[in-house]
Amino acid sequence: MEALANCAVLNTTDSLKLSITNHLRFTLGAYIETASENDWYVATSLAVRDRVMERATQSRRQHRAQGVRRVHYLSLEYLMGRLLENNLRNAGIYDTAKQALSEMGKDLDALVQKEPDMGLGNGGLGRLAACFMDSLSTMDLPAIGYGIHYEFGLFRQEFVNGKQVEHPDAWMRDGSPWKIARPSYRQTVHLYGQVIQKFDEFGQPHHEWMDTKCLLGLPWDIPIVGYDSNTVNVLRLWQAQADEDFNFKVFNEGSYIEALREKAIAETVSKVLYPNDATESGKELRLVQQYFFVACSLADIVRRFKGGYTLPWSEFPSKAAVQLNDTHPAVAIPELMRILVDEEKLEWSQAWDICQKTFSYTNHTLLPEALETWSVALFERVLPRHLQIIYEINRRFLEGDVEARWPGDGEKKRHLSLIEESGGKKVRMAHLSVLGSHATNGVAALHTRLLCERLFPEFFELYPDRFLNLTNGVTFRRWLDVCNPELSSLITESIGSGWLKDSSKLIQLDRFADDASFREKFHAIKRGHKVRLAKIIQDSCGVSVSPDALFDVQIKRLHEYKRQHLNLLHIVSLYRKIIANPNLDITPRVFIFGAKAAPGYYLAKNIIHAINAVAAKVNHDPRVDGRLKVIYIPNYGVSIAERIIPAADLSEQISTAGKEASGTGNMKLALNGALTIGTLDGANVEILEEVGPENIFIFGLTVEEVTELNARGYNPWDYYNASEELRLSIDWLASDYFTGNQDEFKPLRDSLLSHGDPFLVMADYDKYAASQAEVDKAYRDQAHWQKMAIHNTARVGKFSSDRTILEYAKNVWKLPQVQV
Ligand code: PLP
Repeated sequence: MEALANCAVLNTTDSLKLSITNHLRFTLGAYIETASENDWYVATSLAVRDRVMERATQSRRQHRAQGVRRVHYLSLEYLMGRLLENNLRNAGIYDTAKQALSEMGKDLDALVQKEPDMGLGNGGLGRLAACFMDSLSTMDLPAIGYGIHYEFGLFRQEFVNGKQVEHPDAWMRDGSPWKIARPSYRQTVHLYGQVIQKFDEFGQPHHEWMDTKCLLGLPWDIPIVGYDSNTVNVLRLWQAQADEDFNFKVFNEGSYIEALREKAIAETVSKVLYPNDATESGKELRLVQQYFFVACSLADIVRRFKGGYTLPWSEFPSKAAVQLNDTHPAVAIPELMRILVDEEKLEWSQAWDICQKTFSYTNHTLLPEALETWSVALFERVLPRHLQIIYEINRRFLEGDVEARWPGDGEKKRHLSLIEESGGKKVRMAHLSVLGSHATNGVAALHTRLLCERLFPEFFELYPDRFLNLTNGVTFRRWLDVCNPELSSLITESIGSGWLKDSSKLIQLDRFADDASFREKFHAIKRGHKVRLAKIIQDSCGVSVSPDALFDVQIKRLHEYKRQHLNLLHIVSLYRKIIANPNLDITPRVFIFGAKAAPGYYLAKNIIHAINAVAAKVNHDPRVDGRLKVIYIPNYGVSIAERIIPAADLSEQISTAGKEASGTGNMKLALNGALTIGTLDGANVEILEEVGPENIFIFGLTVEEVTELNARGYNPWDYYNASEELRLSIDWLASDYFTGNQDEFKPLRDSLLSHGDPFLVMADYDKYAASQAEVDKAYRDQAHWQKMAIHNTARVGKFSSDRTILEYAKNVWKLPQVQV
């Protein structure tokens, strides 16, 4: 009660005003009269952080006092976005803060925009981790997120002559008010060196890892505020530092410059996020990054276990669950084995039992090029002891369970081995992850089925009980309450406020689809967001668009499997039709793209250029007369997504069936009342089940049809020759019309034709175009469209990350909810 009373006092307008003023004066040394907008943003954030930190301390203390199991979420990426508004709304002090600032002559909404995005992730996987952090606190689950404190997040994207140019993202050049250094929890990490076998006085062998290089990991904590909950968990991000002792000798020898060079090299480890989404590059620095953050995090977990309790090691899993977000942190498995066997002197079999009970693994992709492997030679150089441990895990596995199930079957052993033998030996991180954990999950029902049937069929046969589905979700706080407060208020007015914490209540909105006055309000909110987005488009792209046109949105990473080029071919075809028939009666549309391409992904960059080149022609062609606009909003990320999503009418989810594990953008758009045009892929399948076939546009080949077509021998030329519309569109796009250079988009054309069209764009084109014609027709009946949109919002309660996280807590982590 006392804590609550304190909170109530802290959360008055006057108290906030005093806090903000004090931070301006004493923390920032600024005069109130002359403080910059950025100073005000920082002071406000610090005032909020003060209030939140109190709850973080209480949460930690209570979790420790009760000795509850915690989950430790290990992820190389967290795509957090901005924190101030989200934290204010989740903490329930948004209105108070707005009032306090307004009384001091400041506009909170303007200050919020001062915050740089915390963009420590590439796309869906990193944003999922951020949504999970929000849900873990909101659902009162004891949790710690672990990751890397990258100095540079995902690059900033700019277009020069329509081509992507990358710039560094110095998100914390001015520091960040949200993070707190924890130097007392610094960790030391060893790398490289050699392993020596030694014997103790009883003649027992053990391994010593020697002559290593050392790095230090400094943790930074970011408080994660739950919505309508007192739980504040933390996200702990490790920054790499040089080990001073290591350099001291060099200093003494007078090699001052050399010593500082070593220091700079050590610090590169947490310098920059690798900008590849879904594909792996196999670079040494990346492996070092992975091991660095895993070693720091496990050491931190072990420190807490040893310091907090005097329990035998067998109790470790009852205190700590560790979730591996994809295989990126999979080196945690041999690292925990190393700690238990080499340092704590446990028997191998007991250590392995603890490992399997501790870890669980989420698979995020079926794309073969995205399945992580590491060359054995590289692994051996960087982590020689870990490689030995992996070999021993593998030996026991192949000689044990595999031999028992398939005696004498060498082919099976090659298939299941942790080591790939063909084309240079490689460690298969996905096999290691499945084997070293008690649960492996896919992220949507279809994806999990394919995981069991196609990716890991033998593992599934050996250990069927380890596999489960946990369909992804998104936090409704950020992706509705924060980004669309107008709709959030309308929903609360209509069905009460409980839906933000219990998303199953959202279905109560369904009946309002038949209420004309509700539809009008719903539509007015959407239109307001379209007007706001039109202004952003005018400012960032210099193109004027009508808020009455259909806003057709494809926002996600640029990847061939996501098929932005399918969308583009359809746009080119519409453009052709308008020119061929000046009176063509079509629904005015604004096609909106947002996507970054990996800097080394040549074809993806060619597609970006092609979209921009088509946009430049379409947007300025008087013959089009405003019926089509094509917009590529640069630098797609969380904050711009929060502007685009509430303004979208149509959500493009058009990946080749079987390629998109889940998608989460699809959920955010449907939640905000956009209708989906999509394939039966990832979570689209479940969105269809929830919203009903009459409220979604589904087209294209199914997974089974894709498999069958490929088995039959897919030939994109057949489609090219059979469809005049498709042929003319491709040839026009690849001509000199759009850029003056007829070779400019040859790579794109070649990928679709002579290189075999691996993602079946040509095969799906006609069905896609037909589905788009349905959309065109449907949008003309606005009353009906609004009904469908409301059904989408009302029926997607399943896709709250609260539901996902409660499933993890119940089915994988066995975690209690703890009221703080
Ligand atoms: N990037 C950002 C900023 C997002 O918010 C999302 C959505 O969840 C994604 C990427 C992933 O989008 P998709 O699921 O469409 O690939």
